[in-house]
Amino acid sequence: MRARLLDGTAVGLAIRAEVRPAVEAFTARAGRPPGLGIVLVGNDGGSELYVGSKLKSAAESGLRADLERLPATASLAELLAVVERLNRSEEHDGILVQSPLPKAMGHDAERIVTDTIAVEKDVDGFHPLNVGRLVQGRDALVACTPSGVIELLDRSGIPIAGKHAVVIGRSDIVGKPMALLLLHRHATVTICHSRTEDLPSITRQADILVAATGRPVFVTPAMVKPGATVIDVGTTRVEDRALIESLFPVGSKRREAFEKRGALTLGDVHPAVEEVAGALTPVPGGVGPLTIAMLLKNTVTAAERRLQHKAG
Ligand code: NAP
Repeated sequence: MRARLLDGTAVGLAIRAEVRPAVEAFTARAGRPPGLGIVLVGNDGGSELYVGSKLKSAAESGLRADLERLPATASLAELLAVVERLNRSEEHDGILVQSPLPKAMGHDAERIVTDTIAVEKDVDGFHPLNVGRLVQGRDALVACTPSGVIELLDRSGIPIAGKHAVVIGRSDIVGKPMALLLLHRHATVTICHSRTEDLPSITRQADILVAATGRPVFVTPAMVKPGATVIDVGTTRVEDRALIESLFPVGSKRREAFEKRGALTLGDVHPAVEEVAGALTPVPGGVGPLTIAMLLKNTVTAAERRLQHKAG
């Protein structure tokens, strides 16, 4: 059996195509486009890339997207001042502070920033009030990556209700919200993490297996039930030639990409899982494009709600 590849790029484009008319309608009503403020501290290469593609996608969808840059030496107080300014801005409906933040800001910095962003502009869905609303199944701005995964499953015709979903990873930004969304869609959900005993015996029970560990090629065929849907959230930049050579034969597309760039982005799922799974998200081109599409969707939702709220 060879897994059907779930095309996140195509689904991401479909979501973005739906966002466009909503952006136009909002712009006509409000006299301005929905606005997204992105804050980038320092110049980490990966963050520059992520922010660049968020800005480009937002502009392509007709949103206003502004980048606020701070030097890597900026203090937490300076960062919070920018967030507060965006909180007060009439033109900005969504705020996103790109992580990771410089270590010098302190280990609580991301949490403090999350708590400072106005809940109605929290398009990342990380604010504790949005998380609480998600837990209770109320209307909330929900984290983009897990909500993108649900969109992908739905639009690929993969049933969730009644299925056993296993999520590997319990982070606040992926694992936990993913598990909650699957639960709200009536899956039977198991959450696994680094202390889980005999992980393969659990993952082998999964009809839907979501891997969000950040450990490249961690999920092997022996961990997957034949025919299962496997969602690979992980993205890790790998420069280890021996590992790449063991995974991709000479002449394969991925090997050539490695030879060209000296690095490859790998998911959490071993390529051989394609022989066992029923459906699988590729890396790249799986979950990544959905995350950005959902960010745009959340920004439009936040803009519409703010406009409604103003209208009373
Ligand atoms: P994270 O905060 O580092 O969390 C990783 C989770 O994996 C933790 O809960 C950890 O368990 C668990 N884990 C680590 N080793 C494990 C093991 N051996 N067995 C079982 N569980 C293990 O990472 P994250 O922020 O959730 O991100 C996860 C991955 O997704 C990363 O590669 C990240 O780059 C990627 N990501 C991709 C997108 C996208 O758009 N494609 C978006 C967000 C994140 P403990 O809690 O016990 O430590």
